Amino acid sequence: MLETRNLKKIYKTKKGVSVEALKGVSLKFPEKGMVFLLGKSGSGKSTLLNLLGGLDKYDDGEIIINGKSSKDFKQSHFDSYRNTYVGFIFQEYNVLEEFSVGANIALALELQGRKATDEEINEILKQVDLDGFGDRKPNELSGGQKQRVAIARALVKNPQIIMADEPTGALDSATGRQVLETLKKLSENKLVVVVSHDREFADNYADRIIELADGNVINDIERVIEYKDAEDGSNNKNVTFQYEAGDEGIEFSGNTMVISKGYHLTEEDRMKINEYISALEDNLNVKVGKQKRGKFRETNQEDIREGKSEFQLIKSKLRLKNSFKIGAGALKHKKIRLVITILLSFAAFSMFALADTFGNYNHVDTCANSIVDTNITYASVAKSVKVEFDNNDYYWDEWNHKLVQEDIDLLIQDTGLDFKGVYTPNDNYIEMTNYDTDIELSKNDETTMYATYFSGFAEVTKEDLDQMGYQLLAGEMPDGSKDEMAVSKYVYETYAKAGYVENGDNTKKININNYKDLIGKTLNINGKKMTITGIVDTDVDMERYKSASESTATKSSAERLSYYALNQELENIKDYSLACVIMTGKGYVEKMMENKIDYISLNNTYFQVYNNKYSSYCWAITKLSNIDSSKITWLDGEKKQLNEKEVIVSISDFVDEQGNGMGEKAVLEAIKSNNAFTADYCLETDFEGTTETGWKIVGVIDSGDDEELSGITVVPDEFYEKGWGEEQGDFSFAVASMPDNTADIKNLVRKCYKERDNVRYKMKNSVTYELDSVNEILQVLSKVFLYVGIGFAIFAAIMLSNFIATSIAYKKQEIGILRAIGARSNDVFRIFFSESFIIAMINFVLSCIGSGIVTSIINGAIRKEAGILITVLNFEIRQIVLLFVISIVVAAVASFIPVYKIASKKPIEAIRNR
Ligand code: ADP
Ligand code: MG
Repeated sequence: MLETRNLKKIYKTKKGVSVEALKGVSLKFPEKGMVFLLGKSGSGKSTLLNLLGGLDKYDDGEIIINGKSSKDFKQSHFDSYRNTYVGFIFQEYNVLEEFSVGANIALALELQGRKATDEEINEILKQVDLDGFGDRKPNELSGGQKQRVAIARALVKNPQIIMADEPTGALDSATGRQVLETLKKLSENKLVVVVSHDREFADNYADRIIELADGNVINDIERVIEYKDAEDGSNNKNVTFQYEAGDEGIEFSGNTMVISKGYHLTEEDRMKINEYISALEDNLNVKVGKQKRGKFRETNQEDIREGKSEFQLIKSKLRLKNSFKIGAGALKHKKIRLVITILLSFAAFSMFALADTFGNYNHVDTCANSIVDTNITYASVAKSVKVEFDNNDYYWDEWNHKLVQEDIDLLIQDTGLDFKGVYTPNDNYIEMTNYDTDIELSKNDETTMYATYFSGFAEVTKEDLDQMGYQLLAGEMPDGSKDEMAVSKYVYETYAKAGYVENGDNTKKININNYKDLIGKTLNINGKKMTITGIVDTDVDMERYKSASESTATKSSAERLSYYALNQELENIKDYSLACVIMTGKGYVEKMMENKIDYISLNNTYFQVYNNKYSSYCWAITKLSNIDSSKITWLDGEKKQLNEKEVIVSISDFVDEQGNGMGEKAVLEAIKSNNAFTADYCLETDFEGTTETGWKIVGVIDSGDDEELSGITVVPDEFYEKGWGEEQGDFSFAVASMPDNTADIKNLVRKCYKERDNVRYKMKNSVTYELDSVNEILQVLSKVFLYVGIGFAIFAAIMLSNFIATSIAYKKQEIGILRAIGARSNDVFRIFFSESFIIAMINFVLSCIGSGIVTSIINGAIRKEAGILITVLNFEIRQIVLLFVISIVVAAVASFIPVYKIASKKPIEAIRNR
């Protein structure tokens, strides 16, 4: 059944020396019986056995297994061949120490795709005299016991061949004999090939002895059974034990039956004889004699018959559970190394996740999350326009552009939010009046936590308040028919602090102690008296901004930074929320806009008249027909029309050399004394600017309380028509209530940042202000972090790879054993993938927790310590998925190369390398 033809094996040592270990061995092995490979050390016994068992590759010749040549075998075929046909027993036992005796045996069976029952294992253990040892661990056994476990493991697969390489080499002679007895018993119905250098053992147990020297078979003998008193006295050819009925039994050999002298046939014998006869082709010769084991003579291989069994292979199957067990078992060694590996790759993975949260920094998401986290309830937008230069460069201009009704309609349509335009006449903030200015609102002269100005007018109804979640604390919202206003609680606080003063006379101050005290009071707004009808809570957390009123003198630089950040936040609240808006009723703002003076405000343009002593610089120009002429004081009599180079200036714009304003009288005198002015002006279309002499001031305007007139210069009609740039909008910003879910907020942010026709509606609140300033830094940082993260991931892969490689070195022998009992390279892959998978999963879980904690710490620190409102890092599903994928990929990559190396090795190399 097993045959070698001209089998050659040449070892090439690393130094390039070749050793011909087998020099063309041709042998036939019988189906059963005990064959010894005998020879001195180095004669090639192990080499031959390893080749027979497919543990090593031969260089020439062939092996024939059940009629099938191994010439076309691949490594995996040899694996399956071992799995199916061969049970290996080594000198060093080679049982798997991780597994109990029972599990060692079960594993071998499992590789054949069968599941071992307890009875089956107990049965096998009984056969090797180890009953009840199933639950013991190998390290609790003696050498002889271990060797018998190895035999049991070989047996359980019921292989046709058992191969044993010096199975008694490590045992004392008594135990050795026991092991050989066991093997001898097995050889009754299996082929047992035993490598030994002990001639005595061979003489005692062998049915055949093949002797090797220097890679050649030098002797091949088989045991002959001699028969005393044989009737014909002839040579008994080809006798082997076939059936032994006790000591004094009968034997068959070929067509000869030998019966011991005086033996009485039993019923069992009779049946056996019948069976034997029916299988015979020839007549049966019967001889009577006495058997004697002992004599050997040259083997006649021609008589070794081909077995009937068909050649077939069983592919090994290692259950995932067992791959895991072996893989996890490997983690028990090198614990410190494992911990360090895990810690380092955990750090690396966390860095990567952090890098990704940075790297994945997204303006819209960050903005939306920050708005949610900061609980900003108002959604304010202003218009910014892209201004392009010739060289394709551009900037976003916010200051010179206001919203028009179409912008607001577009915003409402886009976001579904009810935006209200905030109208700021003259582009100027409106001074808050009627409070005691002697009361100190701040200990520094730059900022204050209190409201001191209004940002504009808006029409706000009770329904709007409800929608924004703002509470009406006292009174009612104005209906728009009268000069009435509602103010915020934030504005109220200024009066609560400083008191209410009716006519600028601080001695007649009225204390404001509760909201009702302020209801019904009138404020002087741009020269118009407006009555307060209601007080609205717009949720300004004044506590937070206390530092704005503190003295800056004693602040440390860190405190100054945080003070600065807080201050910017507050400025945004003052400028762009409802906190400082004069809330009027329906139709009121519309009416104001209808009544406003028609003028062109000069944004990218300018107009200035001056002489050697005085100058007048204005923010807007208009023509004579646009204003109430009663406000004009004429220098040379009233005019119906201005001539070329004639101009009317506002007293409030007229300043002396030091830039100081002057009273009406002084202005008039100054002009009269030298009415020859130069005009500098610049139209939008002409960046050069123009200087013209010969201008003359023909009148002045005393705007008084009328804010609308201050800062306006009246120019000749033709000059007015010259084209001073586009019409300005009406609303400095628009405000709505912030949606209360993140998705809608995101949508709002996205819409606001979308550029269309060179226009963007920029969100205006404390968060976006900060975001805009850190955006660029974050974008750069995110790139840096991403590269750092990739670097770290590579580092983690190397670390892990290194760990797996050492782990493999540690497990090499076990791999060899597994291979020897039939596991394929595939199974080995699985074991080590399991190992790195376990590490990877530990890493994954740790990194998720770690990165989650670190991001929230960083976010919290930024928010609390630095007082910045941005939620910079967003650790989300994306990072978790990424961490998972990277963990797996790193584990796969890290284990692939070392595992590939070991798995593609010949099994014997793995075993040999201890
Ligand atoms: P035995 O088992 O009879 O002691 P081996 O089959 O192990 O002998 O070895 C036969 C010859 O091959 C010896 O000369 C030995 O030195 C050589 N040999 C065995 N294994 C290797 C190997 N892996 N590399 C190089 N030479 C080897
Ligand atoms: Mg050997």
